[in-house]
Amino acid sequence: MIVEAANRLNIKTVILDAENSPAKQITNSNEHVNGSFSNPLDIEKLAGKCDVLTIEIEHVDVPTLKNLQVKHPKLKIYPSPETIGLIQDKYIQKEHLIKNGIAVTKSVPVEQPSETSLLKVGNDFGFPFVLKSRTLAYDGRGNFVVKNKETISEALEALKNRPLYAEKWAPFTKELAVMIVRSVDGLVFSYPIVETIHKDNICDLCYAPARVPDSVQLKAKLLAENAIKSFPGCGIFGVEMFYLETGELLINEIAPRPHNSGHYTIDACVTSQFEAHLRSILDLPMPKNFTSFSTITTNAIMLNVLGDKQTKDKELETCKRALATPGSSVYLYGKESKPNRKVGHINIIASSMDECEQRLNYITGRTDIPIK
Ligand code: ATP
Ligand code: MG
Ligand code: MG
Repeated sequence: MIVEAANRLNIKTVILDAENSPAKQITNSNEHVNGSFSNPLDIEKLAGKCDVLTIEIEHVDVPTLKNLQVKHPKLKIYPSPETIGLIQDKYIQKEHLIKNGIAVTKSVPVEQPSETSLLKVGNDFGFPFVLKSRTLAYDGRGNFVVKNKETISEALEALKNRPLYAEKWAPFTKELAVMIVRSVDGLVFSYPIVETIHKDNICDLCYAPARVPDSVQLKAKLLAENAIKSFPGCGIFGVEMFYLETGELLINEIAPRPHNSGHYTIDACVTSQFEAHLRSILDLPMPKNFTSFSTITTNAIMLNVLGDKQTKDKELETCKRALATPGSSVYLYGKESKPNRKVGHINIIASSMDECEQRLNYITGRTDIPIK
């Protein structure tokens, strides 16, 4: 989707990924590199072909990126390798946020995972708590909810051989998120605050704007902006937050890239998160309100399309219902359908959230009365 936005602006992109990966399917070039973002030699090959290097996954090798900066002094790398290093280990990210006065859930590193060390965490934090992999986590693959003493051994088995930390349970009433884009000069621009709803640890729905009072939206925006100001370099960031029963807001985690909770911006905002990222890393204009909703009555729901758990490609039936629904756009990524894999998303736009929900109910099959 970054490539799509780049194409419209005549910005040439060269991709490092597996052969025929989704990004390569939509931009023809003999320059693309077949390989992996975790292989230093492949990254070097890509860097030799670029003026600006960006990433859309934070699990890249930071020392390689830092070496590139020395080897190719003219090459710009955004997000900055330093920022990726502060974010890709979720416990280091927490320490960085705490150092900068940002509210986060209480955490401790688990250097020697054992029944005894986790029992101590349970005694300190209370049950349930969340055992998390510090690195390479996504879609909850890397998290284990330790409900009680009896589930400790299961947690140790599920996350064995991974670097771990433990997090206190956040009794949230809602999960909020916001996309923030930071310019080369360090200015931050926020998109609207949204509400994300997860199913099995995977984002299912995203409501824009979030259904919380304006005062909470403002507080969330300020918290997230302060967090992003603490990271060097520019680019777009996704900030996930917990809104607690007490009214308190805590940051869950930050992604230094376009984010699932920003997909709605393609249809709902003046500029999509993908174009905003390009404008930022290429130092292009970022005028007033370029991250706002397109109109004052815009409401949006984004629904992720996941590979059906039983029947391959069955999720396309949902997409077909979306095609038959007014105000709805389908995005499929050119990925092979696998159970629970994110293969696309649907944006639903209307002038009220009730209307968005009626459309969503038809698309998901909760009602069979088509929307006129
Ligand atoms: P992704 O990067 O895909 O957003 P992840 O694998 O990094 O996901 P987290 O964001 O840490 O995982 O957690 C996934 C979900 O699990 C959260 O969105 C939230 O619903 C729940 N969760 C995580 N940490 C806690 C916590 N401390 N208390 C309560 N729920 C939590
Ligand atoms: Mg994450
Ligand atoms: Mg997350």
